[in-house]
Amino acid sequence: MFLKKQKIKVNVSELVLYLKCPRKVYYSCRGHETLSKGTVPFAEHLVLKELGLKFPDLLGRYSSKDDDFLVELETIFSGISEELPLIYPEESAIIGQEIMDEATSGLRSSISEIGHNLLSSTVDGNAGKLREQLMSAEPGHPFHSEKLGLSGIPDCIVDISGTLSPLVVRTGQCPQSGVWSNDRLHIASLAMLMEKDSGTLASSGIVVYARQGNVRNVNIRPNDRRQVLQVLGRVRRIRDGSLPDRKESSFCGDCAYLEMCEVRSSLASKFF
Ligand code: SF4
Repeated sequence: MFLKKQKIKVNVSELVLYLKCPRKVYYSCRGHETLSKGTVPFAEHLVLKELGLKFPDLLGRYSSKDDDFLVELETIFSGISEELPLIYPEESAIIGQEIMDEATSGLRSSISEIGHNLLSSTVDGNAGKLREQLMSAEPGHPFHSEKLGLSGIPDCIVDISGTLSPLVVRTGQCPQSGVWSNDRLHIASLAMLMEKDSGTLASSGIVVYARQGNVRNVNIRPNDRRQVLQVLGRVRRIRDGSLPDRKESSFCGDCAYLEMCEVRSSLASKFF
């Protein structure tokens, strides 16, 4: 049904944003900034993103019994704050040194836990396979599907049983087991894009939770693919001009759109 209306191109990042809050898509596609950039949480997000992207290389160079593993993780962590201004020059200029120092000193105390979790989630039991898959990671690049009207870039591309599959790095809290439903849909949407190029069916992907050092494999089910199509249709409608209802959530507190969102809601309640 929605496949007939493919004029509006959508990016996977908009599907991810929709899953956080549909209204965020409305504001972001109208040119408003998505994130409050000069904050400690945003600086932490950048540091953890870079750290998570380095896990595959680290696991490839050090074995689980190697005492140097944690030392190397510390070294990598320390090097990230020097790399950030080169990778994210605009964001780093907004963040500034003081906020960056606060973010890194807060995260430094978690390095040992991150290292132990990273080893146990990629060594114990069935995890050896996960480690191999992780070590196959190559940098992600853009994928596009004309049929879906969807584009996106996985953080990395991994080889899972001979199939090119998506890996994403998340920087928030990790669930007790498995992956958050939003991350499942993120992986499913990227897999649907990637299988068009590879010509093979991507039935799973990997989510790296960098804040805790956990690595989780996720199987993609038909229901996930169905939900991707549903969300895609809804995002397209929002891009077309429809303002979603405001739903108060835990994201509202530090949302960059809070002020305009509250104004729009109180105006709407006066008219309806
Ligand atoms: S303030 Fe809350 S409802 Fe409004 S856009 Fe932000 S997260 Fe969504």
